[in-house]
Amino acid sequence: MIPEINIIIPLYNEEKVFPLLISRITALLNQSQLAIMVILVDDGSTDATSLLMKQLSIEDERFSSIILSRNFGHQLALTAALTMVNASEAVLIIDGDLQDPPELLGDMYLLYKEGNDVVYAVRESRKEGFFKVGFYKLFYRMLQKIASIDIPLDSGDFSLLSRRVVNVFNAMPEESRYLRGMRSWVGFKQIGYKYSRPDRQAGNTQYTFRHLLRLAMNGIFNFSEFPIKFITFMGVSTMSIGVIYFIITLIKRFSSDYVPDGFTAIVFLIILFGGVQLISIGIIGEYLIRVFFQVKKRPLFIIKELIVDKKEIKNNDS
Ligand code: UDP
Ligand code: MG
Repeated sequence: MIPEINIIIPLYNEEKVFPLLISRITALLNQSQLAIMVILVDDGSTDATSLLMKQLSIEDERFSSIILSRNFGHQLALTAALTMVNASEAVLIIDGDLQDPPELLGDMYLLYKEGNDVVYAVRESRKEGFFKVGFYKLFYRMLQKIASIDIPLDSGDFSLLSRRVVNVFNAMPEESRYLRGMRSWVGFKQIGYKYSRPDRQAGNTQYTFRHLLRLAMNGIFNFSEFPIKFITFMGVSTMSIGVIYFIITLIKRFSSDYVPDGFTAIVFLIILFGGVQLISIGIIGEYLIRVFFQVKKRPLFIIKELIVDKKEIKNNDS
């Protein structure tokens, strides 16, 4: 069967929320007019998630499962699912913890039918911790200011993408993937759909602060040359200050008995510019790391097992 819609869901240690997730999704599949197939991705879970997924996909052909060989991270788990998409119309991307209510598909599909290739959900309110909400808000506003493309504020991966947008995604070879940035980059007609984001329904978040920071860094360094431009700006301004100071010192030197001050100023300047230089090297390094991984051309993810149409396919090639 060729479905009209694929729903793709990455899962990492989500055994607690899994039954609830599947009952919500099944209810949606049963009442929807659309032909929907669900693609679940196990991102190297260490709990029972992959077992539960397999059981479900063997029983119900509307659910396919991709089991990755290890934890590749949320963005790559989604990337894996996107390569398996077979829907004729569009693809809905949601989180497994029910923070992105699957029931919104109907409304989002209507917007898609009005000619929008991308319908991205915009979080009008969040029911997460104060600190996390603050961090997100600050980050999106900063990214908006510095990114070379226009990434909509407060939108996550939760979105409905037309088949042709998914095809473009699949043809984009970039190693460091930041889907919400790529989504803005592809263009076409895009529209926001406002919703209020609930808290995760069970289990714990898999995104530690380190992961969030990594995602944020990818957002900045993959989509903006601002940091490099900023280095140049810093270099030019500090050099100008240096030149002016040098001229003033020279004039003083020859017009009076001026003796340079002690070490204080020198030590201060060495520390300051040592720091500026290290930061600059670090920023260049961020780009270099990305080039390094890109030229390696490793596969983005490795599929260990697939369950499609109730049949289990094991990967014995890699
Ligand atoms: N996830 C994943 N791989 C990871 C971390 C998370 O596939 O390495 C999945 C997770 O199971 C969930 C979604 O990505 O379905 C979002 O993760 P989470 O809810 O932990 O993130 P948050 O909502 O806190 O940003
Ligand atoms: Mg979540």
